[in-house]
Formats: sequence, structure tokens, C-alpha cells
Amino acid sequence: MVELKGKDLRDKLLISLKEQVKSVPTQLGLAVIQVGNDEASKVYVRQKEKLALEMGYKFVHHVFDENVAQSEVISYIEELNNDDTIDGILVQMPLPKHLDTTLIQNTIDSNKDVDGLTFVNAGRLVQNMPSLVPCTPKGIIDILDDYNIPIEGKKVVVIGRSILVGKPIANMLTNRNASVAVCHSKSDDISFYTKNADIIVVAVGKAKYLTSDMVSPNTTIIDVGINRIDGKLIGDVDYEEVSKVASYITPVPGGVGPMTVYELMHNVYVAHQLRMKEKKLNNTKKLELTKN
Ligand code: NAP
Repeated sequence: MVELKGKDLRDKLLISLKEQVKSVPTQLGLAVIQVGNDEASKVYVRQKEKLALEMGYKFVHHVFDENVAQSEVISYIEELNNDDTIDGILVQMPLPKHLDTTLIQNTIDSNKDVDGLTFVNAGRLVQNMPSLVPCTPKGIIDILDDYNIPIEGKKVVVIGRSILVGKPIANMLTNRNASVAVCHSKSDDISFYTKNADIIVVAVGKAKYLTSDMVSPNTTIIDVGINRIDGKLIGDVDYEEVSKVASYITPVPGGVGPMTVYELMHNVYVAHQLRMKEKKLNNTKKLELTKN
């Protein structure tokens, strides 16, 4: 069994990303919006801040009160959309129930949507067009590629169909010519799919959900789950038992998690490039108009 060390890959990729960022004449900027004081959200935002500052990015962290009005959040996002020092905007999930998550996410300018969750970017991904893509799925693809695990023509099962993980990874793997089955809480006999899979991606949010009797030898297991049990981080895979059967497996912690934060930093860089390209195009168009 080979452990897929996302943490080591993150460290390697960060070196080249830092070099790319150095060649950008302006400071890149990331804004994170948080509503309320959810403990897990605070931890995730701190991780993002730490790496953003290490990258030399400007980091703006705005925390709204739990009872904030929706219009206030939307106005703030619109302000950030027009702020030239901000390349990426992210709204930390989950939001309180009185807020319309979809509306808020889609207020973000699609060129600054570093979580890849707007209709525009999700649609572009489905159509296999270049887009800003969600960070966790992109991290999974980078892990598979770095370890030379073939995707094309392979049988893949994704367990979980969230817009953050399950759906985008299923689309990315389909775009890479895998045959993908998506399972969820209403699926019958999930073992039927997992036992016949070359790659299993588990994004369910239930500790040790995937057990060794669900897995055949020579399988690659990607464990996305983060479950806090008695102060310890446990994945969605019963690592101890499944690692005896599988060929490749991501650990928790140290697997998919570190790659997610790396991909966010990478998306900020990509978003900046996108915006600069669009600006240049607009300037050329304006120039052509003044010539005519
Ligand atoms: P989510 O939105 O809660 O989605 C969970 C999915 O699992 C749903 O599609 C649900 O099905 C399915 N599910 C629930 N119980 C099931 C069962 N018994 N059998 C089969 N499917 C079942 O969660 P998420 O945002 O995708 O996150 C999943 C996990 O990944 C969580 O532990 C989260 O903390 C973790 N996560 C980790 C990272 C990272 O960087 N490592 C990033 C994001 C999330 P229905 O659609 O039918 O309800």
C-alpha cells in the first residue's frame, strides 16, 4: 500500500507557486467572509490566513454578526467585486439559515470566485471549459496525477454529491475520461459500486464510513472526510483496515486537506491572471473603438 501524501505534494507545489507569484508586479489579494463564530470555520479561516500571508498575499477577513441582514453581506461582496486589490473572494460555509447561500455565492464576480461555486464556473466545468474550479476536487486530481494514477478509462465511484466536493470531482473525472458512478444517501447497495471500482472518492462526512469489506484489492482510495471525534481528526475511511486491502490511500490528516488550501492559493493566482487578461482585452477593444 502506498500512502498518498497530500501534505508533501502541497509543499512541493507551493515552491513553484511562490516563484510564479513573484513574477506578478502587484500584491495578490484574498478576501474571506465569515458569518457568525462557528468553531470549525474559525480553524479553516486561520489555515487560509496563515498560508495566504506566507504567500505574501493581502488577506482580508471580514466577520459579520450571526444575525446580519442579507443585503449587508451582498453589498460587501459587491464592494469587493469592485476592489482592484482583491483577486479572490470566498464565503466561508456554512452560513446561518436565514441567509440565501446560493444568492450570496452568485453575487461573487465569477472571475474572483476562488471556490468555483458560482453558476458560471460550475457551468463551465460541466462543459469542460477552462474555469475556476473548487479547491478540494482540484487537489484530488493533482494527487492522482502526481502519483501517476491513471484516470482515463477507469471505473470511479464518488460517494457524496455536494456542490463543494462530490459533484465537481465527478465532473472533473468525467472530463478526464473516467467512467464515474455517483452514490449518495439514497443509493442502494453502494458496495456493488465500490467493489468494482478502480478509484473510490469518499466525501460523506461520517467517520470510518468506508470499510474494508466494501473494497477490492488494487483500488485507490481518496478520503475527503474530516470528522472530529474526541479531539482527533478521523476520515470517512476506516484507514487501518482499508489500507490492508487498497493499493493507494490518502491519510487523514495529511492527505486531501493540505491540498485544498494549496489549491485556494493557486486559484487566487489564476483569478488574478484571468482578470488581467480581461482588462487587457477591454483596453484593446476601447483603443480600437477610439481608432474607428
Ligand atoms: P455534505 O454537503 O454534507 O454532503 C455529504 C454527502 O454525503 C451528501 O451527498 C449525502 O447524500 C452523502 N451521504 C450522507 N450519508 C450517506 C450515506 N450513509 N451513504 C452514502 N452517502 C451519504 O458534505 P461535503 O461538504 O461534501 O463534505 C463531505 C466531508 O468532506 C465532510 O466530512 C467535510 O468536512 C469534508 N471536507 C473536507 C475537505 C478537505 O479539504 N479535506 C473539504 C470539504 C469537505 P445526500 O445528497 O443524499 O444527502
